[in-house]
Amino acid sequence: MKKQAQLYEGKAKKVFATDDPDLVIVDYKDDATAFNGAKKGTITGKGVINNKLTNYLMQVLEREGIPTHFVEELSDRETLVKKVSIVPLEVIVRNRSAGHFASRYGVEEGIVFPQPTIEFSYKCDALDDPLLNHYHALALGLATQEEIDRITGLSFRINDVLKRFFSEVGVTLVDFKLEFGKLSDGTIVLADEISPDTCRLWDAKTGEKLDKDRFRRDMGGVEDAYQEIMRRVFGA
Ligand code: UDP
Repeated sequence: MKKQAQLYEGKAKKVFATDDPDLVIVDYKDDATAFNGAKKGTITGKGVINNKLTNYLMQVLEREGIPTHFVEELSDRETLVKKVSIVPLEVIVRNRSAGHFASRYGVEEGIVFPQPTIEFSYKCDALDDPLLNHYHALALGLATQEEIDRITGLSFRINDVLKRFFSEVGVTLVDFKLEFGKLSDGTIVLADEISPDTCRLWDAKTGEKLDKDRFRRDMGGVEDAYQEIMRRVFGA
């Protein structure tokens, strides 16, 4: 499958057209941003790691009956995926308090919730991805009630699968962000990525952070943390 014109360049990925109108190629970069682009940097090797991890986890999810956009890994950084129109909602599932949940509600990080939470933000950089509830999403026409119900159900199922998967390799899945897309027939599929950029991953024994918080919070050891997640998942 040959790369055609670039369709889009985001903060961490580029998207290219292909000969097939229903397929696009995602190309992962090493660029890292945080705080809606206010902080910029490079995490060497991140593009390769996020590409491989995302593809591996999407295939794990497919085996568990979760529909995804994944088609085929083409190279270290490039993957063929189904073309979707992205539902402009960032879906965040949390198993423990951290990040904005901790700061917004004035609690410490790491509190284990009796059951997972879900929240949505409006995917809109100009507005800084504001938090919204499902009535707001309906009011803004971002998705239908049926789509929101489907996305919610899939997100909790994805959490069950990923939480178990990571716990088997000694990693606590604290929280993560998902994005969903619609195929031309309206089917909702998981899109975007699942990586240390989009998940909070803590070593289950020591609580050490193995994710993008090391970059956001200038903790050092960013590349090592991403590589450690690779080692845990691929056992290399
Ligand atoms: N997250 C993300 N992209 C965003 C915002 C959040 O991938 O634009 C992920 C983040 O890595 C974490 C989870 O979503 O795993 C919850 O993030 P939170 O709302 O606490 O915001 P943050 O503190 O990461 O800005």
